[in-house]
Amino acid sequence: MDMAERLNEVRRQIAGAAERAGRDPDDIRLMAVTKGIPPAKIDRVAALGVTEVGENRVQEGRSKWKHVKSPLHWHFIGHLQSNKVKYVLRQYILLHSLDRMSLARELSRRLEREGREMECLVQVNVAREAQKHGLDPDQVVSFVDEVRHMPGISIVGLMTIPPYSDDPEASRPHYRCLSQLARDLERREWPGVKMRELSMGMSGDFTVAVAEGATIVRVGSAIFRGDDR
Ligand SMILES: *Cc1c(COP(=O)(O)O)cnc(C)c1O
Repeated sequence: MDMAERLNEVRRQIAGAAERAGRDPDDIRLMAVTKGIPPAKIDRVAALGVTEVGENRVQEGRSKWKHVKSPLHWHFIGHLQSNKVKYVLRQYILLHSLDRMSLARELSRRLEREGREMECLVQVNVAREAQKHGLDPDQVVSFVDEVRHMPGISIVGLMTIPPYSDDPEASRPHYRCLSQLARDLERREWPGVKMRELSMGMSGDFTVAVAEGATIVRVGSAIFRGDDR
């Protein structure tokens, strides 16, 4: 399979999972995760109709961005150090990895200074893995309650990365938990907080994520890994 065929297959599976779940396939955005992918190949995936791409490293995103010719929406999906916030503000439309108060403070400080807003997702470490970033599920409500008062930050949903597994079904309880958390937050009807996006699902398990309510799936290797002539 070449990249076009792999991409079609991913799209077909998203649509199938959406239909089985009684969802509109148009409510799910496919983000191509372009970490490690050179600019020319990013242009090729854009030519196939991809409009959203995700990077997980500030430095790599910065060096590739200017060489990509296609108009794309860039998402930042990696761990963000507070001293790199300024770069993220320029390049990305959505930060998926707001995962701690110190980052929220630095982000807000810069956004306020520039008189801007940025949409962010709160990253949740649903499985409470010691080595992973993200808030403990128990901390999410109080975190959002504090961050929603900070200038510039607009919380529009949640994101998670489940524990690695070969079995896509292993991700289901984690994705279900994230959906539940989003519903709990939505019920509070806090001004300035929306639960519009659930960023969940990667190459191995995005159909499960769609079944559990994902609005953005982050797919890398299923699109980019393979022989491209
Ligand atoms: C790399 C990455 C992905 C994509 O992983 P694949 O298994 O290659 O689809 C998704 N989300 C995050 C945060 C990543 O770093």
